[in-house]
Amino acid sequence: MSNILVINCGSSSIKFALLLEDQHFRIQGLAENLGTAEARIKGVTIGEEKFEMPLPHADHKQALEVALTRLKHYKPEAIGHRVVHGGEITEAQLINDEVIQHIKQTSALAPLHNPAHIVGIEATLELFPDLPQVAVFDTAFHQSMPEKAYRYALPKNLYTDYGVRRYGFHGTSHAYVSERASTLAGQKNQGGWLVAHLGNGSSTCAVWNGKSVDTSMGLTPLEGLCMGTRSGDVDPSLHQFLAKNLGWDLERIDKMLNRESGLLGISGLSNDMRTLVEAADNGNHDAALAIEVFVYRLAKSLAAMSCGLPEISGLIFTGGIGENSAYIRERVVKSLPHFGFSIDQNQNDHARGKEIRIDQGQGPQIWVIPTDEEGRIAHETREIALKIAEPA
Ligand code: AMP
Repeated sequence: MSNILVINCGSSSIKFALLLEDQHFRIQGLAENLGTAEARIKGVTIGEEKFEMPLPHADHKQALEVALTRLKHYKPEAIGHRVVHGGEITEAQLINDEVIQHIKQTSALAPLHNPAHIVGIEATLELFPDLPQVAVFDTAFHQSMPEKAYRYALPKNLYTDYGVRRYGFHGTSHAYVSERASTLAGQKNQGGWLVAHLGNGSSTCAVWNGKSVDTSMGLTPLEGLCMGTRSGDVDPSLHQFLAKNLGWDLERIDKMLNRESGLLGISGLSNDMRTLVEAADNGNHDAALAIEVFVYRLAKSLAAMSCGLPEISGLIFTGGIGENSAYIRERVVKSLPHFGFSIDQNQNDHARGKEIRIDQGQGPQIWVIPTDEEGRIAHETREIALKIAEPA
C-alpha cells in the first residue's frame, strides 16, 4: 500500500495531497473559489514545479476530476478524507453508507464543515468506486477525555438527548506532534505533554501517555483561546446582552464571534500575527494589546490543561504561529512562571520549520514540532486500507 491521496474539502475549497509511502515526496494542491467565476486550481508537482489553472464555475466534483486526472499516473491506492466533526466516533473509519449517514447527522454540530466533506466524499466515491476511502476525524483523538473534562455543567438531557458536550478539534495535529515529541524525548507516547496548536484556529491539549485528557475547544471550534478571527471564551450571557441592547439576532452574533473577533477584533487591523507584531513594533497600541491578550489567554489555558496531567514532561508548539514565531513562544513561556520552564534563546531563534528542542535542559522540555495533519491522515488511511487488503 504505497500512494495515498488525502483530501480536505471546505465549503468553497479543496486541499489535496498525494503522499508516497517513503514520505519524502508529496504532491500538493488547492482548488479554491469553487462555484464562482474565479474558481482555480494550483499546486506543486513532484519536481517542485508550480502549476495553476483557471476552472471558471467549477464545482467540487469538477475540481476533483481535474486534480485526480493530474494524479492518476501515480495510482493512489486509498483515499483519506479529513472530517472535522465525528461526534463520539473514536477512530478513523472505512467509509460506507453508515459512516456517511453519521457524518451527515453530525452536521448540526459542524454546519460549515461536515456538509462540504460529504460533497468531497461523494465525488471521490463516484470517481474511484473501487478504492478504499477512509474518514479521519478531528474530534476522534479527544474521545479519550474523561467525563469531567468533556461534560458542560448543563442539564443532563442536553447531553444525553442532543449530544451537547465538549468534543475538541485539531485532534490529528495534537496526536501527531505529541507522538513526535515523546518519541524524540525517548519514550514514545509516554508522559504528560501540553500542546499549543497556534494557527488561524488555535487550541491547547493535555496529552497523558499518548491520550488526550483535555483540550480547549468544545462543542464547536469557537471555545477556548483567542484566535485569528474567533473570540474564544466569552461570558455566555453575551448573546442575551447583544440581543436585548443591540437587537442582534443569532446569525449576527455568530458571525461576530467567528469572523470579526480574536486578533482581528481587538487590533482592528489583521488576523495575521506577522502583521500585528510588525504594527506593535511600530507603536500600534491595539496590535500590541491583541498580542498580549492572545499570549495571556494561551498561558492561562495551558496552566488549566496542566490540571489534567499527573506530571509535565514538556510543552509543544505547533501550527503557523507556534512553528514560526520565536517571539510568541518566548512570551508564552515567560507567562507561565510557575512550571519551571526555561527557554534557550538561541535554539528558540533557530527553530523555524524543523523539529527542535528549545529548552535549557532543566525543568520540563520545550519542543517546536511542525505539524503534519496530511501525513497523519495518510498514515491512518494506510493502516485501515491495509487491514481490509489483508484480512486476519
Ligand atoms: P495556520 O492556520 O497553522 O496555517 O497558521 C496561519 C497563521 O500563522 C497566519 O495567519 C500567521 O498569523 C501565522 N504565522 C505564519 N508565519 C508566522 C511568523 N513568522 N510569525 C508569526 N506568525 C506567523
